[in-house]
Amino acid sequence: MPRVPVKLVTWDEIVEWSWKLAKSIEEANYIPDVIIGIARGGLVPARLLCDFLGVENFLSIQSQHWTEAAKASEKALIKFPYTVDLSGMRALVVDDIVDTGDSMILAKRFIESNWRPKEVKLAALQWISSVAKIKPDFYAIEVREWVWFQYPWTRLEDVTQFIKRMLTELCRESGRREWSYSDIVTSFREWYGVEVEDRYYREALRALAKKGVIESRDGTYIVKQC
Ligand code: AMP
Repeated sequence: MPRVPVKLVTWDEIVEWSWKLAKSIEEANYIPDVIIGIARGGLVPARLLCDFLGVENFLSIQSQHWTEAAKASEKALIKFPYTVDLSGMRALVVDDIVDTGDSMILAKRFIESNWRPKEVKLAALQWISSVAKIKPDFYAIEVREWVWFQYPWTRLEDVTQFIKRMLTELCRESGRREWSYSDIVTSFREWYGVEVEDRYYREALRALAKKGVIESRDGTYIVKQC
């Protein structure tokens, strides 16, 4: 059993789910004048919905909650609370996933009171129905058991944070500081139940060395911050 349940999502799945989402919006006869992608996770699905629904107007709002892969910070916040006038417009707010629902709730509230569109509806590729505080108006996939979905646009960031967590926790638990590359890959598979392309491990290790979390010495990785 992996310590953190992870599912790798492919680009093909993203396109399939976005088509499915677009069809459900069309079938409900909701015709948005503007699509608002919640940054950063909602940007690719929102852009695909612009394409599949023929919407030209595209805005973004950064509602931040999960600052580290599979670890939520306490509170969601709007990072750049700028104002635009959407009066008379129908808006569709899009995110990749509704997990706790905090980001969506906050974005909706902010948009309604500051951007003042005529109507706001919510769409997400995935909705974790067992934990979310809200149900989006439109979704492609209902998820019942919590999993961290490793989306293709955040692969390097997630792998970097996952390796960092694994190395520091094992360092704290057992004092282990020295690792070979192949041990890291094997342990990553055990911890997260998935494998990624070689370049993601290599780039993640390079990033961690740059940050001083590890040091690379003659093919061995030494954990510096335990
Ligand atoms: P939340 O406010 O908890 O609904 O989630 C905020 C954002 O964090 C989502 O839009 C995703 O970008 C990311 N996120 C939260 N939970 C997950 C998950 N289980 N898998 C992948 N990404 C997630």
